[in-house]
Amino acid sequence: MTIHTLEHELINEISKFDTKSIGFVPTMGALHQGHLSLIEKASTENTVVIVSIFINPIQFNNPNDLANYPSTLEADLELIQKTNSNCIVFHPNAVDLYKNRKTNKKYSFDGIEKQMEGKFRANHFNGVATVVELLFEITRASKAYFGEKDYQQLAIIKKLVSKKNIPTKVIGCPIVREENGLAMSSRNTKLSQNARNEASIIFKTLQKIKTQFKDSNFSELKKIVSDQFQNASNFTLEYFEICNETTLSSHQRKQKNIKYRAFIAVYIENVRLIDNISLN
Ligand code: AMP
Repeated sequence: MTIHTLEHELINEISKFDTKSIGFVPTMGALHQGHLSLIEKASTENTVVIVSIFINPIQFNNPNDLANYPSTLEADLELIQKTNSNCIVFHPNAVDLYKNRKTNKKYSFDGIEKQMEGKFRANHFNGVATVVELLFEITRASKAYFGEKDYQQLAIIKKLVSKKNIPTKVIGCPIVREENGLAMSSRNTKLSQNARNEASIIFKTLQKIKTQFKDSNFSELKKIVSDQFQNASNFTLEYFEICNETTLSSHQRKQKNIKYRAFIAVYIENVRLIDNISLN
């Protein structure tokens, strides 16, 4: 494993490898098994894996959220080392990375950016697309790995690549969960043990929706979710949506031959958690 904080040093090291076999896993650090699953998959499919660890300030709409975002570089490096993969870690600082570059780009992703996270986190996807486009340009990766945990982000990156003709294949990877079903997230470390246990309700609710999907209409399904979280007083439900899995447009009723996915965002102990599940 090698570590670079400077872009030109990273580029220099990458130049030793065949660009056809460079895997890339962008992260914001505070790594857990979800991130490691991406690194392990990338490692089986490429000669070298670039892992970026960068808390991207321009994708945070809430300054407190940015200030409180966990940062555990030493532990992250140990975890990467333990995967036994051939990794290059890129850990830039924001001033260097964005020097002489535009940080207020506006993207259009055929409406995907306006749904769910886009409604509640102004500018979030502009910040995500800016950093990912830049990192794709720097790493020149042949394949990049993203978790379905952030399904809307994955859809946005697929659009970015197709709209800008970027020669990187975007690969979605399944959600890794805690034993109680809670989707692994760096933000989980901000929760008390009690909240972490209680947060199993998120996935249980999604599973219930999946089970009842065939025999219920969308308002019935939405009512199940709102009742569930009204009874769980420590939680605040931000949104629950049933969307077309490809366009991510929100639907009010079932149509034939469409693949649906349910998406949820909740707060507990001031920590924002998101999750999703495919329904059919
Ligand atoms: P983050 O560090 O939260 O920006 O996440 C970096 C990458 O890891 C993104 O592609 C996430 O979707 C992915 N990821 C985060 N949590 C999980 C998880 N529980 N399972 C699978 N992938 C994940």
